[in-house]
Amino acid sequence: MNSAAMYPPPSAPPADMFGNVPGYEGTLSGGGGYLPPPMPLEPVRPPEPGPSPDDWSIPSLSEDVAREAFKSFASSHCCYSKSPANDGVITKMEPYNTYRYRLETFTESRSTEWAHKPHEGEPADFYTQTAPRPWEIQATPPSFFTDQEQEIRVPFTSSIKDCHSCHAQGMMPCDECHGNGYKPCWVCNGSGTKDNENCTRCDSTGKDRCSVCDSRGSKDCETCEGKRQLLTYINLKVEWITHTDDHMVEQNCGLTMDDLRSVSGKELFKNSNYLLYPLLGFPNPDISEASQRLIGDHSSKYAQTGRILQQRQKVELIPITKVNYKWKSDFHAYYVYGNEHEVSAENYPATCCCVLQ
Ligand SMILES: [Zn+2]
Ligand SMILES: [Zn+2]
Ligand SMILES: [Zn+2]
Repeated sequence: MNSAAMYPPPSAPPADMFGNVPGYEGTLSGGGGYLPPPMPLEPVRPPEPGPSPDDWSIPSLSEDVAREAFKSFASSHCCYSKSPANDGVITKMEPYNTYRYRLETFTESRSTEWAHKPHEGEPADFYTQTAPRPWEIQATPPSFFTDQEQEIRVPFTSSIKDCHSCHAQGMMPCDECHGNGYKPCWVCNGSGTKDNENCTRCDSTGKDRCSVCDSRGSKDCETCEGKRQLLTYINLKVEWITHTDDHMVEQNCGLTMDDLRSVSGKELFKNSNYLLYPLLGFPNPDISEASQRLIGDHSSKYAQTGRILQQRQKVELIPITKVNYKWKSDFHAYYVYGNEHEVSAENYPATCCCVLQ
């Protein structure tokens, strides 16, 4: 039996004594829900002009660049022979360029919960005035599309109470020595004798001093950091988050959205606004449809739980080239895609796992 049993178990802080704080009725200790902002959405803006068709051309891949990309692809795979990349003869280059639409919505959301900290002399201001409502409290937003979090103690919600972990003792039993202040001597196992002789390490006491608590048997309570009292208050958590969704126009070359997610393309159009109007004038109807659908999705999804601060949309042309080549009298192909010249070659003709002639 150790002396930890003498300390009563910690209890949860009583939040019910605070009753209802106007504007915080749903706030529970241990995490409240998100709060809808009181601000209604503004009407949509007039349409943005579509991009001019002159912008469509992209620099085509030269055979040299295609070959170099293929060579570095082959050498990055240890079991690929370099022969197809070095000796293959390019027979045809076909463009499979596609569009990617990206919508980003930058939101601010607010949630509240009961919280506590060690009391360090802060005044108990609970109900000395009416607490400001969650969306009335000033928070400083970061620049748009920078994710960040801020915590604010809601004014006029603070009160002081005894620490529930240590029952206002400021101390807890030391875990290392279970509150004893000493541990059994490791040489004599606490017996005081070793091989029928007095233990010299512990002077026959069988005890070893506890260095963690300096033999006190106790340490500062972690909840109140030894202050004995806690400041209990409503904590407002403000989160700024960028929500991103992509849409890719189908290009039938076998590359997936995941293959293409990591690469960049040529930016054809970009704009941002508090609330965006869909890109209806875009020459590719699939992009216009995606813009309309995703903007609708984001408005209904993110206006529920927070406040939309800014939206940004972008259309990129992702270059994809199918490179056909001949190696050892057989025809093969690989794809080079993105500004980064990533390569995909599903049936590479010479790996050590294949039987070669
Ligand atoms: Zn100790
Ligand atoms: Zn000993
Ligand atoms: Zn405490």
